[in-house]
Amino acid sequence: MTAAADARRVELEQNLASVRRRVARAAEAAGRDPKAITITVVTKFFPASDVRLLADLGVADVGENRHQEAVDKVAECADLTLRWHYIGGLQSNKAAAVAGYADVVESVDRLKLVSGLGRGAEQREGPLECLVQVSLDPPGCGAQRAGVLPEDLPRLATAVADHPHLLLSGLMAVAPLGEDPDRAFGRLVGLRDFFLSEHPQAGVLSAGMSEDLESAIAHGATHVRIGRAVLGERPVIK
Ligand SMILES: *Cc1c(COP(=O)(O)O)cnc(C)c1O
Repeated sequence: MTAAADARRVELEQNLASVRRRVARAAEAAGRDPKAITITVVTKFFPASDVRLLADLGVADVGENRHQEAVDKVAECADLTLRWHYIGGLQSNKAAAVAGYADVVESVDRLKLVSGLGRGAEQREGPLECLVQVSLDPPGCGAQRAGVLPEDLPRLATAVADHPHLLLSGLMAVAPLGEDPDRAFGRLVGLRDFFLSEHPQAGVLSAGMSEDLESAIAHGATHVRIGRAVLGERPVIK
């Protein structure tokens, strides 16, 4: 290994240890088992060489948010045993392609994606795991981050659950910018309770990023999606 690769490995190892400590502390504070919380390391903008180092450091779940970048990285890392989470905005004409390489699609936020994902999943051995991304934007706020509106969640969840090649495994959410994450994730708890009453098997809750993972875990997250706290600030897009 080159000196630069060695230094990067040490950096990732230390960052990962610190995130694992934060997760463990937050789980204990919430009276939950830290082992029940999965850290998905978001490797977008970072090279496949980082994914390799992470796999070697025991990371099993990685997240990507752009289709072309994800395709390339999955191919470069084909020899590694990893679960690839697609967490980005999804165009309906790319849905089938994403279903071809992702192990979990976390950003299912509209009915239009269901048939494409289902078609792409037909060739798989089992159904494709899907999370429905729900919007936590305060009601009536104009600027939407991605996610289905809470009132449209039941219909979308049922469409995913009823598809023979898709497996509804839970919910995903992103706290809105500029709002206290405790308030946003507080709204998520109520949405999820109702969701679970209709889909009791779909217990995954992917919520929480580098800045708000403690709040997400306090509100029931089973998966946190961590980018910068492990990999550092993302490079500027050229
Ligand atoms: C980039 C991204 C993350 C990771 O964010 P960090 O703040 O770097 O931890 C998590 N979730 C989604 C949907 C993202 O796009």
